[in-house]
Amino acid sequence: MNELKPCPFCGGDAELRHTDITSEYGRTSYVTCTKCLIKGTMINISFKYSSDERAIEAWNRRATKDD
Ligand SMILES: [Zn+2]
Repeated sequence: MNELKPCPFCGGDAELRHTDITSEYGRTSYVTCTKCLIKGTMINISFKYSSDERAIEAWNRRATKDD
């Protein structure tokens, strides 16, 4: 599992979460900040392990953005 970077906005702890809804596309994975509750990209694809990793990658990409 990839490691989550802290929130790019407030520096709070990030957490990987899933929606409760299970559809034909599988669950949606996303990363959210536990402090300011901002959400990263919602990733909704068939393979759960893959969507988790993609959600983390999307979050980490934004966390490292300078602007
Ligand atoms: Zn935050």
